[in-house]
Amino acid sequence: MYMSLIEKISEQIATVTGGDFVCKNQQSIGGGCINSAFRLDGDGTSYFVKHNSAHLLDMFIAESEGLQAMADTNTIRVPKPVCYGVADNQSYLVMEYLRFDGGRSVDLLGEQLAAMHRHTQERFGFHVDNTIGATPQDNTPHNDWVSFWQQRRLGYQLNLAKRKGCGRKLIDDGERLQELIPRFFTDYRPQPAILHGDLWSGNYSYADDGQPVIFDPATYYGDREADIAMTELFGGFGRGFYDAYNNAWPLDPGYSVRKTLYNLYHIINHFNLFGGGYLGQAEAMTDRLIAEV
Ligand code: ADP
Repeated sequence: MYMSLIEKISEQIATVTGGDFVCKNQQSIGGGCINSAFRLDGDGTSYFVKHNSAHLLDMFIAESEGLQAMADTNTIRVPKPVCYGVADNQSYLVMEYLRFDGGRSVDLLGEQLAAMHRHTQERFGFHVDNTIGATPQDNTPHNDWVSFWQQRRLGYQLNLAKRKGCGRKLIDDGERLQELIPRFFTDYRPQPAILHGDLWSGNYSYADDGQPVIFDPATYYGDREADIAMTELFGGFGRGFYDAYNNAWPLDPGYSVRKTLYNLYHIINHFNLFGGGYLGQAEAMTDRLIAEV
């Protein structure tokens, strides 16, 4: 499997780590939604490598930046990015390999995520654009959260949906909702919090020491409620997670309404990626939000 690619990646690992990494064994890893992945084993150290077509290097650079930004908070474990590049017509990202077989402390996940969310910067957005699933995610910085969500999140996905032929209802109602967004924020002013950005249950696990790990991010600085909303989108993370998060940093009561606004972004994205029943779901969510404000 990809012998020359593996040799070139191993050489780069050796260069950036200042060691003499020699690959002794490699193993394919399944389970990803977007990329192919494998583990490289040297003497005592293993690395996790994702790869895809060469033209997708920017996607991996952005993922590396997101992982590094979250790692820099020293609050919750993320795989440390090691290097990225292009070899043999493949772009790749190398990160620390983590053995996912530890305990199950969903409480710790909630507590550590709240601690991560305390990390702020001046503006909403991120210094690089990244991807949400396979869709580009526009992280152009804004001083104001409402305009960020209107343009860079809801507006961006609505434009894509229009091009995918979603029909007038979602576009007309979605544009109406865009105008109404300020009403969801009349007495709530979120600060820019560092977010994982794609926090569904497939993107967290536990390392062999029991520590929660979050990975495969779409990082940016935004309202922390957007991360929590996504945890609820496909079934929820369990009572202990929400209790621990709220103990560490209580959510605003208006979250229960805004979470639909935040998850609408992901549902329109799912329509744009997969089509089908996500259109009806997006329309129903839009109707509900318009009725609620
Ligand atoms: P994709 O970008 O294709 O969605 P993921 O980042 O979700 O890929 O990774 C695919 C799978 O590989 C994950 O579901 C997880 O089980 C495993 N994985 C991800 N990161 C690591 C890591 N750093 N160490 C070990 N396994 C990992």
